[in-house]
Amino acid sequence: MAEKKLEVEKKEKVHIFEAWCKRCGICSAFCPTSALSLKKDGLPFLAHPEKCTLCKLCELRCPDFAITVREKEKKERS
Ligand code: SF4
Ligand code: SF4
Repeated sequence: MAEKKLEVEKKEKVHIFEAWCKRCGICSAFCPTSALSLKKDGLPFLAHPEKCTLCKLCELRCPDFAITVREKEKKERS
């Protein structure tokens, strides 16, 4: 159970607001570690959460404010 929760938190390092995303692919193209990939319909997703460094480039580059990156994994510290 705890393992599953951790896995979910890891995937949620990057959150995509699907309703705002216009599937332009900019976030994926600028991700320096290739952690983001695009689904068949063009929606980005965190395909490799372990590669994400929380650099926020995807959030900064998204023209539609559709992607947010968590500041820190606060729960891992407690
Ligand atoms: S925060 Fe940085 S490493 Fe993580 S998905 Fe966005 S661009 Fe890639
Ligand atoms: S940059 Fe923004 S609008 Fe474009 S695919 Fe990524 S999340 Fe969607």
